[in-house]
Amino acid sequence: MTDIRPAFIDGKPKQLLIGGRFVDPVAGERFASTSPSTGEHVADIALAGEEDVDRAVAAARAALDGPWSRFTPAERQAVLLRLADLVDAEFDDLALLDCIEMGRPITASRGLRSMVLRVIRHIAGQATAIHGETLGNSFPGTELMSFTLREPIGVVGAIIPWNGPLFSAAWKIAPALAAGCTVVLKPAEDASLSPLRFGQLCLEAGVPEGVVNIVTGMGATGAALASHPGIDKISFTGSCETGQKIIAMSAGTVKRVTMELGGKSPNIIFADADLDLAVPASAIGVFNNSGQVCAAGTRLFVERPVYDEVVARIAAFAGALKVGPSLDPETQVGPLVSAKQYARVASFLDEGPREGARLVTGGARLTEGALANGHFVAPTVFADVGDDMRIAREEIFGPVASIMPFDGFDEAVDRANATRFGLAGGVWTRDITKALAAVKRIKAGTVWVNHYFAMDPAVPFGGYKMSGFGREGGFEHVENYLNTKAVWVRTS
Ligand code: ADP
Repeated sequence: MTDIRPAFIDGKPKQLLIGGRFVDPVAGERFASTSPSTGEHVADIALAGEEDVDRAVAAARAALDGPWSRFTPAERQAVLLRLADLVDAEFDDLALLDCIEMGRPITASRGLRSMVLRVIRHIAGQATAIHGETLGNSFPGTELMSFTLREPIGVVGAIIPWNGPLFSAAWKIAPALAAGCTVVLKPAEDASLSPLRFGQLCLEAGVPEGVVNIVTGMGATGAALASHPGIDKISFTGSCETGQKIIAMSAGTVKRVTMELGGKSPNIIFADADLDLAVPASAIGVFNNSGQVCAAGTRLFVERPVYDEVVARIAAFAGALKVGPSLDPETQVGPLVSAKQYARVASFLDEGPREGARLVTGGARLTEGALANGHFVAPTVFADVGDDMRIAREEIFGPVASIMPFDGFDEAVDRANATRFGLAGGVWTRDITKALAAVKRIKAGTVWVNHYFAMDPAVPFGGYKMSGFGREGGFEHVENYLNTKAVWVRTS
């Protein structure tokens, strides 16, 4: 396939990481991981069944009461900082795993180094900042002191998507470790390798065996985790439909759940915006990672006086993007992750014009030359999109922008909010009063003003409405992995 294979792609079948060791799945089943750029075989991956999930949960449960329970906060912090150093040292190879397996272009994959390291190091800092509160009470008759203890929630089942495998593994595992939890992580079937290697690096960093377990497999593996009585909390990132199933499955044992689900985020460009800033950032807000980003700003509302200009400039930007295999350093837009995703996105490309949208650029599958065996589509811009069209309502998860004109502030925010989702939104204007008024009105967990896509581990991220609940990033991130225990002490 390529002579720059990372050492982790060694031709051997990939096993499950359970109890500190790589082991074969009990039933011996495997599935093939293939390159979305070329269709070539990348690795055979272990398919974890229910028995394997049982074993992983048992290992995590045992580890919760083992040496890990005696790690001080400073020791957990030290382990996380060592992990960050190991990830840093190996980052080029980790980036290659995601590049080869899920198709994020190599330049973009390598560009995530700073973010991934900041996540682990920021969360390492939080390990020593966990604290309860002393609370005054009015209990009559007896003097009692009341305070809270923060305790690890227990065994965490983390289920992650394929669109940022390494980042997602760090985003789930690091806060669980900071809190003193143990983890069974289920990577997405289209991107198992970097999470597996990340799990191995946790061991190398000094995380005791059984604290981090990785069970690869399909949706059924995730379902076994979500319904497992030995799991205390599920942290899920993925589609809304799967999130709904997981919420239902978790009800059996009343698991704690946090959900980061999909989006159909609005991005509003007012006529007074600095278009030299707004146009490229808004285009990247759609086409980054081939549009496979939950917070992508795919509903682009543009105020009528600048509508034609913005449509033309976004289309020119899209048309100039270099689409190619993910290993090519020149590639800006790589393939879609899988045949399933390719078929889904292509069906929206066909449907847009049928619904009456105006195709301005793109709109096609790309099958020539080096793209022949991959899942490539052209970055696509639809203009004059109606709010009721499926391309404006459904999360496409592909490089497809829907642009719509609006007249006036109220119309813009009302239409921006007319969605079941509420993950993110953008506002472009030189008028600070208008910007802040829009911020207040937009029902979403993140709103960017004169920017799109800024993220930082110190800043919370998560959804309103059907985009989910719970926040990752910020102080709430580690909080999600803690229980609060109230303590009452007679003082007289
Ligand atoms: P997509 O449709 O884009 O693959 P999903 O939300 O289905 O997105 O996938 C996100 C993660 O959820 C993946 O790890 C996937 O294997 C897992 N998953 C899929 N179906 C289920 C399910 N029924 N229960 C638990 N996890 C699931």
